[in-house]
Amino acid sequence: MSHAPAHIDFRDNTQRVPPTMPGAVQKATTRFLGGRATVVEILGQEVWQALRQAGHDLRLHAIMHLDHYLEQAERAVTRAGGHVHWARDAEEACRIVLEIARQHQVKRVVKSKSMVTEEIGLNHAMEAAGIRVLETDLGEYIVQLAGLGPAHIVVPAFHLSKEEIAALFRDKLGVDAPAEAQQLCQIARQTLREEFLTADMGISGGNFLVAETGTIVMVTNEGNGRMCTTLPPLHAAVVAIDKIVPDWESLTVLLKLLARSATGQKLSCYTSFMTGPPRAAAETGPREFHLVLLDNGRSRILQSPECRETLLCIRCGACLNICPVYNSVGGYAYGWPISGPTGAILAPQILGTKVAGALPFASTLCGACNEICPVKIPITDILLHLRHRVAEGDDQEGPAAPAMIRVSAKLGAVALGTPWLYRFGSRVLKVAQAPFRRDGWLPRLPPPLNRWTRARPFPAFAAEFRQWWRTRTRGDRRSR
Ligand code: SF4
Repeated sequence: MSHAPAHIDFRDNTQRVPPTMPGAVQKATTRFLGGRATVVEILGQEVWQALRQAGHDLRLHAIMHLDHYLEQAERAVTRAGGHVHWARDAEEACRIVLEIARQHQVKRVVKSKSMVTEEIGLNHAMEAAGIRVLETDLGEYIVQLAGLGPAHIVVPAFHLSKEEIAALFRDKLGVDAPAEAQQLCQIARQTLREEFLTADMGISGGNFLVAETGTIVMVTNEGNGRMCTTLPPLHAAVVAIDKIVPDWESLTVLLKLLARSATGQKLSCYTSFMTGPPRAAAETGPREFHLVLLDNGRSRILQSPECRETLLCIRCGACLNICPVYNSVGGYAYGWPISGPTGAILAPQILGTKVAGALPFASTLCGACNEICPVKIPITDILLHLRHRVAEGDDQEGPAAPAMIRVSAKLGAVALGTPWLYRFGSRVLKVAQAPFRRDGWLPRLPPPLNRWTRARPFPAFAAEFRQWWRTRTRGDRRSR
């Protein structure tokens, strides 16, 4: 049932990035970063930094007391008339949602945008069970029609042009779609409206879960989230356990950080709060509400002092927008719905380093993500720790790097730490490289070194370093 990737080869994925992707990504990310900078400036750096610190502290407090707040939330949801389910992993979460759907003979589902349901592959599980699932966020709707996943955690289809979307609508919906934004929105709106009215079930995620009242908070810019959670007779929300916030006061801090960091808005167009099903017959909304609380490796992440701050993420997307690697390749190269720096630290911990061990290396470690993160996650420290986990293993996982690379690295360390061996090795390399050398470069090297020379030539070994240094300093003295 699980739809998790078997192995993520970031390098290989980058080879398939369409040439138009970097330009489209940079155009959008520049706009978001500009908007963010403006709203932060209006607030003032001092206030902003204080908000970031408060956001960090309260998120850390929440995840360090997960047991307490999750049980509080469970009691509150149950008190409000909802049903709470606990899912250890992706498979169990999909099974629970499917079971709820089967009990109500659900045939058609409308879904609001939710990264956690992307993470667990819920759509695939439901479709495999014969249930039609329709994404209703415009970006998600477009990428679903195109048979793709989200290219960005906030704006899933931002890499597609109006022309491409119009062609997609013509092809998949059989309508006369002009390449004009408003008309394309109108077409999507008309198609989706009918679906909202006839769906048997609505599925959502939740940006936050307020422990004190058991309230799901949804932050969106389209009305679709509200339609999904109010029109169908049944609502299931899948929420990861790290989304918990203690109370409404904490929530206000996070809401101030989220929209500003994500899209440069003070507040998103829709911020919806849902606490159980309607309590009186006169109230509108689904008659039944289910909350699926998903772990999927998060309890394990919490046990790692070096990596637990991964769980502070509020999925604002700012680290993607500023990341030079993400801006060069876009989201699909990460091979997982959550991409960019936040995906590079989350995926290896959820999927394991044997599957996603390439992702912590998909970074220049420039630290821009640390600076922009609204909840001050030390992303580069976590990336470095995960690189160490891949190479050497730690108390969570054994090493994932191939034995040959690990042995080569160990031999390299010995050679670099033993002067006579280093001198001897340099001389041997100088002779051994002769057949490959062209004008001071090594354009082609045998495997595994050809992974470098496939992209660029390698500089030939000039000499043993000490000898090269002596020659150089002698030359400097002569020229003085
Ligand atoms: S890691 Fe920080 S910047 Fe990146 S998505 Fe999460 S909260 Fe936003």
